[in-house]
Amino acid sequence: MKNESRLIVVLLGGPGSGKGTQAQIINSWLGIPQISTGQLLRSEIDRGTECGKSVRAILEAGGLVDDDTIGGLISNRIGMSDCIDGFILDGYPRDIGQAVALDRELLVSDCLVVIALSTHLDTIVRRLAGRWNCTYCGTSYASSSSAHSNTCEKCGTVLIRRTDDHEIVIRSRFATFQRETPPLADFYRKRGVYETVNGMRPPAKVAEAIAKILRNTAAATVSNAS
Ligand code: AMP
Repeated sequence: MKNESRLIVVLLGGPGSGKGTQAQIINSWLGIPQISTGQLLRSEIDRGTECGKSVRAILEAGGLVDDDTIGGLISNRIGMSDCIDGFILDGYPRDIGQAVALDRELLVSDCLVVIALSTHLDTIVRRLAGRWNCTYCGTSYASSSSAHSNTCEKCGTVLIRRTDDHEIVIRSRFATFQRETPPLADFYRKRGVYETVNGMRPPAKVAEAIAKILRNTAAATVSNAS
């Protein structure tokens, strides 16, 4: 059975905006799981499933996977027991169709907060061109940090470069993001659940701004309930 007061944090942002890093920080504060659709898809590809085979080329080109496939993966993941108190969505929804599909998964009593991390393309290209990732826990590293040792500091897994972290693909992913996001922002702004944070600052500063939003959300939830 679903918990009556889940906290659902949606992180919106282009490639390299720090959604994954911030999702892990929020997870460490609140204990609710990070659900990254990119990671779910890469796991399907790594395991060689039918779904993985059908989406591989799309990820490599930086396009968007169809809403039915994504909706199915999300619905299964949200139904798992660790989501009973809420979850953090990293990379979902990406367009209005997905936002409407997400609404169907929500309860009236859920507390939804949407946080958009704003970025600029040139910084993103520089950031991602040097990024290394852990395929097991999803932690990402700038090339100047732990990538030197080539293993993840958290779980010891060998780090890899993502096949879609190359300039042409990054530009294509960013263009897709810029096309799909304004309607999504409007969709959530009208509901009064949309917040923006400057994602170009150091991760700790971005996290501080997110903490403030989450504290206000918790306060609003308590006052609505009383
Ligand atoms: P990310 O890890 O969020 O950067 O996503 C990597 C890639 O996975 C994207 O460039 C898309 O090809 C695909 N992807 C991730 N999330 C979604 C989504 N919600 N809808 C469609 N495609 C997605």
